[in-house]
Amino acid sequence: MSESKAADEAFCRSCGETIKRASELCPNCGVRNDEHSPVGGGPTGGSHGLTQYETSVSDTWWYGVAAGTGIWLLLVIASATTSDLGAAGGLLVLIGWVGLPLSVYFDTRYVRASSEWDPNVAVWVVLTAVWFLNVPAGAAYLYRRHRVLGEP
Ligand SMILES: [Zn+2]
Repeated sequence: MSESKAADEAFCRSCGETIKRASELCPNCGVRNDEHSPVGGGPTGGSHGLTQYETSVSDTWWYGVAAGTGIWLLLVIASATTSDLGAAGGLLVLIGWVGLPLSVYFDTRYVRASSEWDPNVAVWVVLTAVWFLNVPAGAAYLYRRHRVLGEP
């Protein structure tokens, strides 16, 4: 005699009984049916366990990264065209110098909790805190972030 199964049937991995593919448990031995797949399917996961990096950090820190990069771009251009940035320039420097690395710091926490990218926080914070380097660094960060998250 030969065991045969219909298209909608599967063999139980435990007892070998022919069971309905749709049934979650084997009626014969009670072992979970491997063929059974819940509707919709499970999450198809990233490369690292996202729950490992679960965070309450909001996804809005990239605005700070974008604004900070913009401020630095403005400052770099301004410093190239005029020797005196004035009081407003000084204030912008302060905002940019603190704001950009701070935004990057918080945003990396969000990014690593929400995507496969696991940014090196220290590297990005340092890069975005260095004069002249922070503009391309901020832009590169935003570009990379966009690639992995598919958001702005
Ligand atoms: Zn069974």
